[in-house]
Amino acid sequence: MPSNIPRQARRGAAIGMKRAFILSTGDELVRGRTQDRNAAEIARALSAEGLTIVGISVVGDDLDDLVAVLRRAAQEADVVVMSGGLGPTEDDCTRAAAARAAGVRVRRDPALEEWLRARWAERSLRMPESNVRQADLPEGAEAVPNAYGTAPGFQVTVDGCEVFALPGPPREMRGVLADEVLPRIRELIGATDHVVRTRTLETFGARESDLGERIADLMGRDTWPRVGTTAMRGTIRVVLHSEGAVDEVEAGLDRVEADVRQRLGGLIFGRDGATLAQLVGERLIATRTSIALAESCTGGLVAGALTSVPGVSAVFPGSFVTYSNAQKVALLGVPAELIERAGAVSEEVACAMAERVRAHFGTDIGLGVTGIAGPDGGSAANPVGTVHLALASVRGVTHRRVVLPGDRALVREIAVKCALDFVRRALLRVAT
Ligand code: AMP
Ligand code: MG
Repeated sequence: MPSNIPRQARRGAAIGMKRAFILSTGDELVRGRTQDRNAAEIARALSAEGLTIVGISVVGDDLDDLVAVLRRAAQEADVVVMSGGLGPTEDDCTRAAAARAAGVRVRRDPALEEWLRARWAERSLRMPESNVRQADLPEGAEAVPNAYGTAPGFQVTVDGCEVFALPGPPREMRGVLADEVLPRIRELIGATDHVVRTRTLETFGARESDLGERIADLMGRDTWPRVGTTAMRGTIRVVLHSEGAVDEVEAGLDRVEADVRQRLGGLIFGRDGATLAQLVGERLIATRTSIALAESCTGGLVAGALTSVPGVSAVFPGSFVTYSNAQKVALLGVPAELIERAGAVSEEVACAMAERVRAHFGTDIGLGVTGIAGPDGGSAANPVGTVHLALASVRGVTHRRVVLPGDRALVREIAVKCALDFVRRALLRVAT
């Protein structure tokens, strides 16, 4: 956005702003057709700036509803960050709602109109006349440039509360938030020593309750850092959260992280959103350990996870998806007699798959996965969720049997994580 859009003096001196309210708008969000991705992202960003989030609301494209929620939010918070409703169509009513909540009129901003027309002209397009509405702003509002699209945001004061309106598309919201809104909020908050920090330790291989028991005494509610656990599709995350003066916060987090690591040891595979696939892929590459896979119940998902890691081609020549017994025999050379005798979902067959695929591709590691994802096919001996994993290497073959919870999708997803974790543990032994 060119600098010819007049910037008014920043409102709101450094007044120790601490309370934030987040508002997402759109009929598609309240009807459940689109998942709200903006609010969580804004909440994380504002929390990291040291603001307390006092509430998050989702409102449809309704002028009266928006005005009511904005007024209430302005009462409860020092800053409101909202997204959506800045498009050119009749249902985009953020500009009108903010004006009404602020008790001012909407007026057209000539400089903004000029910018809009220039933006379209840059792309050799004629701006549809209806789009000129995007140059409307509540009186007294300041335009917030959007370098990622054509809908400008704005900042307006409602009842002493600073309201920032951002474009709805998540990519645009993210860009405008980082480039324009967070710097303004920092300026409004003023210099502060108060920080909010969250660290997460990613774990795999223990039940949440077992893991919780090991760190129970750290999970008190009234000491910093707070320690909690969140289970997500087989992965359990230990969350350390702290607020206060920066040095104390970092020192406290270091101390508790070291304590948690001591207690959980090898269950922890990474920090702050790391995935097993990333970790295993990178470790295979770093240790130049090649791997091949023979997958049955996971149908290639382990290969999919591994190949999400850039550079893994150096250590991953290929794999087989051998879903039927016939293909376990034909492609891998698993003896038909063995499948007949032990069953396709068995330790023996998993081990044979691992050894055969290792021999076929000539890799350091061969991994075999065979199981029952359900909903049918279970038996008393092998209930739905039973998965046999085998890992063949120069040191021989090791095997694990797990019985996984959940429906077909979850069993397959956790089976992939079990397979990756099996490799991780084998690699750790190599490395240590
Ligand atoms: P709007 O600015 O309201 O016209 O939003 C434009 C598009 O951005 C919508 O059609 C949605 O697809 C997307 N969008 C808006 N708000 C959100 C949100 N909170 N989460 C995810 N997508 C959104
Ligand atoms: Mg919308």
